Amino acid sequence: MELQELLNKESFTKEELIYLLNLKNEDQINLLFKKADEVRQKYCGNEVHLRGIIEISNYCEQNCIYCGLRLDNHYLKRYRMTPEEIVKTAKSITNEGIFTIVLQSGEDSFFDTEIISYIIYQIKQNVDVAITLSLGERNFDDYKTWKIAGADRYLLKHETANPRLYEAYHFKQKLAERLEHLEYLKSIGYQVGSGNLIGLPMQTVDDIADDILLCSKFDLDMAAFGPFIPSPHTPYHNKQSGDVLLTLKTIAVARLVLKNVHIPSTTALATLDKNGRKKGLMVGANVVMPDFTPIPYRENYLIYPEKAGLKDDPIVAKANLENLLNSIGRNISYKRGDSLKQKVIPS
Ligand code: SF4
Repeated sequence: MELQELLNKESFTKEELIYLLNLKNEDQINLLFKKADEVRQKYCGNEVHLRGIIEISNYCEQNCIYCGLRLDNHYLKRYRMTPEEIVKTAKSITNEGIFTIVLQSGEDSFFDTEIISYIIYQIKQNVDVAITLSLGERNFDDYKTWKIAGADRYLLKHETANPRLYEAYHFKQKLAERLEHLEYLKSIGYQVGSGNLIGLPMQTVDDIADDILLCSKFDLDMAAFGPFIPSPHTPYHNKQSGDVLLTLKTIAVARLVLKNVHIPSTTALATLDKNGRKKGLMVGANVVMPDFTPIPYRENYLIYPEKAGLKDDPIVAKANLENLLNSIGRNISYKRGDSLKQKVIPS
């Protein structure tokens, strides 16, 4: 089958995904990118949705082998924002016309059912804003209570669809449990996001194809594919970073397969390549997640080091992003940017 004919297909086999991810010829890769951009345009339009992130705590009770926030990293200066600081930061995000707030942390049970519910309630009191939680694997009652309190979305990366690799990276956690959590979150009405890391040690292109297919099987609302970046003081501190081109190909192939799903151009991609943000947006991505975590907390949310924009003022960063988007004929959305799949009733 000719490449163009393959790219025009509506659905793909795993072998076809592997073939596309393995493309080496520059002209062929450009054809893939062009098609992914067309599919993005058809299903998502020109708008780029912004999700304002607040990294509320860098404590974590897990020990994921690749992550700088892992429990055993005793070199990391730990912090927790107060609920008042979080609500104030959320206000600064909505003041910028960004109507999705992501509350992100390690798995930190200090932020319990009541505290998170209180924060959600406070943020939602005066403004119609979508709240995404990215707090790791928590118990099912917490998910339910937070949904009732007004949370709209939950981000829980599956990291890898390969159960053997999952166990190697996570020690205690199991892939099957993570997938149960994703199922449960969907069943109680969250818009759900997941995704993987590109370039983790031992990962193959075959695994990445499975990651995309898993996102399809779970009929996700959001899917993130960012490169692995080694973090100091972790067992993977001396491993290679994920490959930028493979990450871009993954975003493009994911767009062809997943179609009406929100896909971010990640900060990790922008960290490895100064034009990474733009490149991601040009090969299928339609979301950017600017970091509004106040300084000095932000510099201690060290999942990986030397994060792009670490010291940037978020308002200046947003203006720069606007210029970047203008240069590629795109524009910022000033809406909540809910799931493209369903008519969402805001909570
Ligand atoms: S990946 Fe998440 S759960 Fe794992 S150590 Fe990092 S913050 Fe904790």
